Formats: sequence, C-alpha cells, structure tokens
Amino acid sequence: MSDTRELKQQLIDACLQLQAMGYLVGTYGNASARVPGGLIVTPSRIDYDAITPDDMVIVSDSGQVIEGHRPPSSETSVHRLILRARPDIQVVFHTHSLYATALSCLGESIPVIVEEQSQVIGAEIRCTNYVPAGQHLALGEEVARTIGDSNGALLRNHGVVACGRSIAEAVFASQVVERVAQMYLMCRAVGQPIPIPPEYVTSERERWLYRYGTEADKAISS
Ligand code: 13P
Ligand code: ZN
Repeated sequence: MSDTRELKQQLIDACLQLQAMGYLVGTYGNASARVPGGLIVTPSRIDYDAITPDDMVIVSDSGQVIEGHRPPSSETSVHRLILRARPDIQVVFHTHSLYATALSCLGESIPVIVEEQSQVIGAEIRCTNYVPAGQHLALGEEVARTIGDSNGALLRNHGVVACGRSIAEAVFASQVVERVAQMYLMCRAVGQPIPIPPEYVTSERERWLYRYGTEADKAISS
C-alpha cells in the first residue's frame, strides 16, 4: 500500500496547515481521505508535528484496521460514516476551530448568511445533538445524519466537521465554516442577520460548482 504514502503526507501537511491556523489544538481534531475499500485516518492522540506517513492508519469501510501500527482516531466512525453516506466526498476534517466551536455550544444551526456558505457548504450549517465524548459510533451516526448533503456541520459542545472533493476543498470548507460562524456571532451581537433567500442557495451552489470562473458564468451575468 506504499502508493498511499503521498496521500498520507498530503493529509498530514493539511493538518499542519489547519494547526497553524489555530483550528487544531493539541492533539484535538482528525482527518481522513478515501482510498479503495476504506479510508486513511490520522492516529489517535498524537501531536501533529510528530505524525509521519507510517503513523497514519487505513481502516476498511466496515471499520477494521487494515494497515498501521497506531490506534486510529477515536472519531474514525465520524469519517467512515460520512464517506459511506457521501460518495461525492473524498476528504473529511474534524477541527476544534474557535468561533464555530463556541457557536456549537448554543446548539443552533447557522442559517445561510453569505455567499461562501451557499457556495462551498451548500446549506445552513446544522448542529448535531450532544453526544458524550467516547460514544464513537453514536457520534458518527449523528454527524453523518446531520451533515446530510452539505459540506459542514457543528458538533454540539465539541467542534466542526467539514468535507470536500479534495484536500484543498475540505481545508477551504473548514475555513468557510469558521468564518461564517465568526460572522454569525458578530451579526448576532448587534442584531438578527437576514438569511439569503432559500431559492438562491441552490443556484449559488450550482454556479460555484459548474460556472464560476468560466466563460459560462460571464455569458449569464453580462
Ligand atoms: P483523536 O486524537 O482520537 O483523533 O481525537 C481528537 C478529538 O478531536 C477528540 O474530540
Ligand atoms: Zn474533537
């Protein structure tokens, strides 16, 4: 399975990027990428600065460790069940980014308030019910149910899950969830933000997926 080595290193590099942004604190947070028959996942409770490709773990679609000498992330079920429910997704990050985690403590969803949310996340950022730490499978089921067909969710009193079709897109989705949470808290401090009308959420997402940055976008907007 040495052909997965480059992907493992890319995932580690993305974790270091998220750590530098303050989204991963200590050994909190974890990451995964789909591989045939399963997923690569970060090891549990290891400093990101110390992780090498040899520490990464490969887990099958059914949850069995098939490669690696470390225990896989305690939140492997979150990654596995999202990837199982979402064939369109290749990469999942779980972070403890500050504003989104603060907002998760309210147990509220974030309505669609800005274009990066409609375009990159594709929906309101829903918040799970509370799942106590250590109830791994229950957390996985709750997060996979809550995220639905969107690309980001809040884990109540815990953190964030964001995903994408590539590592870069999943990092970006993590940033968007954090920025939107920060903006939502700023808005709520002085008033009630006005959501984007629901009829535009889908069209803005489709434009970002299929037309933004292409000639087709220019033709429609001119
Ligand atoms: P792991 O170190 O087991 O991946 O857990 C990190 C975490 O985010 C716990 O909530
Ligand atoms: Zn966590």
